[in-house]
Amino acid sequence: MAERARLAVDQRACVASGLCATLAPALFRLTGDGVGEPRSALVTGAAEIESAEDVAGCCPSGAVLVTPVLDGAEG
Ligand code: SF4
Repeated sequence: MAERARLAVDQRACVASGLCATLAPALFRLTGDGVGEPRSALVTGAAEIESAEDVAGCCPSGAVLVTPVLDGAEG
């Protein structure tokens, strides 16, 4: 399993529920408009990735995107 993943929020899809920042404040924050955004574009370690994936599964608009980064597939 990849130990790194890209983390992104589709800000056009986000409905500003604030859930991501509530569930995982270490990974997400809210903009002034209440739209979610990742604190970092890259999450590392199985626990952080699992947390990000949990949030992605809870986001009401499916706006949280977690993409595993495979070794040798940088870029
Ligand atoms: S949980 Fe989803 S809809 Fe809610 S603020 Fe975060 S990205 Fe936006």
